[in-house]
Amino acid sequence: MKRYQRPKGTADIVPGESEKWQYVEAKAREVFAHYRYHEIRTPIFENYDVFARTSGDTSDIVTKEMYDFHDKGDRHVALRPEGTAGVVRAFIENKFFGPEVPKPFKVFYMGPMFRYERPQSGRMRQFHQIGVEAFGSDAPALDVEVIAMAVDYLKQLGLTDLKVTINSLGDAESRAAYRQALLDYLEPLAEQLSPDSQTRLHKNPLRILDSKDDQDQDIIAHAPSILDYLTPAATEHLTVVKQLLDQLRIEYVVDSEMVRGLDYYNHTIFEIMSNSQAFGGKWTTVCAGGRYSGLVAELGGPDIAGVGFGLGVERLLLVLEAEDKQLTAPDPLDAYVVGIGNSAEVNTASLVVVQALRQQGYNAERDYLNKKPKAQFKTANKLGARYTVTIGEAELANHQVNVKDMVANQEITVPLATITNDFKSISAKF
Ligand code: ATP
Ligand code: MG
Repeated sequence: MKRYQRPKGTADIVPGESEKWQYVEAKAREVFAHYRYHEIRTPIFENYDVFARTSGDTSDIVTKEMYDFHDKGDRHVALRPEGTAGVVRAFIENKFFGPEVPKPFKVFYMGPMFRYERPQSGRMRQFHQIGVEAFGSDAPALDVEVIAMAVDYLKQLGLTDLKVTINSLGDAESRAAYRQALLDYLEPLAEQLSPDSQTRLHKNPLRILDSKDDQDQDIIAHAPSILDYLTPAATEHLTVVKQLLDQLRIEYVVDSEMVRGLDYYNHTIFEIMSNSQAFGGKWTTVCAGGRYSGLVAELGGPDIAGVGFGLGVERLLLVLEAEDKQLTAPDPLDAYVVGIGNSAEVNTASLVVVQALRQQGYNAERDYLNKKPKAQFKTANKLGARYTVTIGEAELANHQVNVKDMVANQEITVPLATITNDFKSISAKF
């Protein structure tokens, strides 16, 4: 028989692991609720154009990484490579831009994303993001709220060694001026650029700054700084963001080379990085985001601004695990039901009892493998059962069962009806 393996770049999140996922997800829900972000769930696949238009046609996502295909109705669709585009599409389709919906309109999402990448640690083909978006305000204070919320979340998970990097991409006027300055600088160096960057040179020179190619790094390091080309209004936006971050005592560094992948970012962009041993001590981005305008309009909505971030859950868990953070809650077993003998009566009573215990709010388990009583007790011990309820034929005939407190190592005989109606009164007897 052929044995199957999971697709390259994917992972099974198995019991023992899934509890950690639940923990970071629950913490995100808790923190985001304090900031009044509500959950949105959009489809995992969308019309290809939703991503192609929003990510930009020189982005890695569109040029190399998209899982796109034609479905049986010949529709060109793609598995979502990131969360923002689908949320923007839904924002427009549900008319949340309307005046009756309070602004900013604030949502969060969590779920799988798909990118055809070369898999390595912290880089998968199916990975997961937790992200947020806030629409309908240009206020620098909202940029800071989004950054503060990401920092708050990571701190509440116990991470302290984080670096917050910010930059401004200015407004359209700032970017046009900077684009020209960058072209003037890069054109004479064109032949030394990586092939990818040479293609980008005239299509989207800013994206060259995002290149991870070693060949490009030196050139990038000496490039002009976008901060020198910001209009007074864009400089003011950045100044207010920095002042507000200072007020909230959020430490940050300004990195004028940071550009981020999306074409529609403007004004504030940010990344939160970790130099955890999980990444060999190298600064690695766990959370990234920024302010964007034009995205809503690009998908057919009104001219409304947004700001948000996306956080990679796999990378987050790598960091948390490297720092030995306690991510799982205890998994107690209140009672294990031991059936003695294989009679139908014992089997029935075992099922009735285990079910009654669950309905009274206890975590309860029984044997389904016809094991001998000794082996069942062994299982109960292994699972850490607090009590065992033993059902034997003789006791059952008298409508009785035995309950043992596994910690106190004491056993008592009690009426079956008390187990099924009021187990609490029994556990109080030990
Ligand atoms: P990178 O520069 O590492 O490729 P990116 O700019 O493509 O990242 P974003 O699109 O900003 O990443 O996604 C936000 C976050 O999602 C990243 O900071 C990272 O934590 C996570 N992420 C992105 N791609 C992957 C992937 N292939 N596997 C796992 N996590 C990922
Ligand atoms: Mg990438």
